[in-house]
Amino acid sequence: MISSDDRTALLEEISIHPPMRLLFGPGPSQVHPRVYQALAQPVVGHLDAYFFEISSNIQRLLRTVFGTKNELTFVISATGSGGMETAISNFVLPGMKVVSFANGFFCDRMSEMARRQGAELVRFEKPWGEVFGDQEAAEFIRLEKPKVVMYVQAETSAGAFQRGDAICKAAHEVGALVIADCVTSLGAMPVEVDKTGIDIAYSCTQKGLSCPPGLSPITVSPRAAEWLQARPTPNRSWYFDLKLIADYLTISHRYHHTASATMFYALHEGLTLIEEEGLQNRWDRHHQAHLEFVRTLEAMGLEMLVAPEHRIWNLNTPKVPQGVDDAKVRTTLLKEHGIEIAGGFGPLAGKIFRIGLMGPLATTEHVHDFADCFAAALRGAGYKR
Ligand SMILES: *Cc1c(COP(=O)(O)O)cnc(C)c1O
Repeated sequence: MISSDDRTALLEEISIHPPMRLLFGPGPSQVHPRVYQALAQPVVGHLDAYFFEISSNIQRLLRTVFGTKNELTFVISATGSGGMETAISNFVLPGMKVVSFANGFFCDRMSEMARRQGAELVRFEKPWGEVFGDQEAAEFIRLEKPKVVMYVQAETSAGAFQRGDAICKAAHEVGALVIADCVTSLGAMPVEVDKTGIDIAYSCTQKGLSCPPGLSPITVSPRAAEWLQARPTPNRSWYFDLKLIADYLTISHRYHHTASATMFYALHEGLTLIEEEGLQNRWDRHHQAHLEFVRTLEAMGLEMLVAPEHRIWNLNTPKVPQGVDDAKVRTTLLKEHGIEIAGGFGPLAGKIFRIGLMGPLATTEHVHDFADCFAAALRGAGYKR
């Protein structure tokens, strides 16, 4: 076995030396040094009592960040899209009517997954960057009377935050379950599953939670859990079958798949950091960083894509100024400062920047350091102000 001195020596011997990036993109986001320490801890088996102890703490910590009392709250061994596939494959049956609120790239991915389950899909579409009003959303649901309603809380492709209260209320009136994608919002903005009325919410580890990618937290309301118990046929997806995963992680602790203890450690540390800071403080920090960033961008003459009241705090989408090549700006930031940001895609390709302020980077100091580099890169790409 090796001592800690040996470990330090090993660091110099290992074969990989990744560049130190500042992750100001839409995800993965910056990882806290304590999470890196957690990742380096010894692996235990996926059936070890210690593993289940960590897993059970994670369930408790997740209930707080999700804002839920749901018993069925745990993590899927997959990225955010695996959480999406879990939600949709368990709750959408062939021939079932599904309403999808579609205002961005990730709503389209949800639609595609529902289609592949054989759903009768009805889409309410809006341009990317806009959100659905309470009344129009409720009317659409009352008219269509679906069995499942899907929306994206924080649409990362455009930077818009969708409030879900009216959607959930109308859905429950017609007896539908609500699936909400909370991939980017969880850990940075109020997700409030119970207060909003969301039945199935899923997320990922590498955005608002500021851990490496690899796990997908999910939570399921008692009424959705009841529906699942009564589901007439087993999920066609074996790996994402919620009943089997719940049995492994929360009931019998019998083998389902070899969950990565390493990733569970990382998430445990990430959630502990949130608990120590306090959830409200963490939200406030992201909100303040966002407001400061928008003020700074507007002082530089930039405009935001999304209306002020609908912006995601931890993912900002300023428009690319006229005549500026956004790819050139991104390349300069990466080459000269090791900073990663993202551009737009689909209908927003070349039109917006996507700049994340998440986890350790959501501070006024980082906002100003970033803005200085960003301003210089914009000028280098021909921006005149
Ligand atoms: C990133 C993202 C996903 C997909 O997550 P992966 O971890 O890349 O699989 C889904 N929905 C939203 C809103 C996202 O931002």
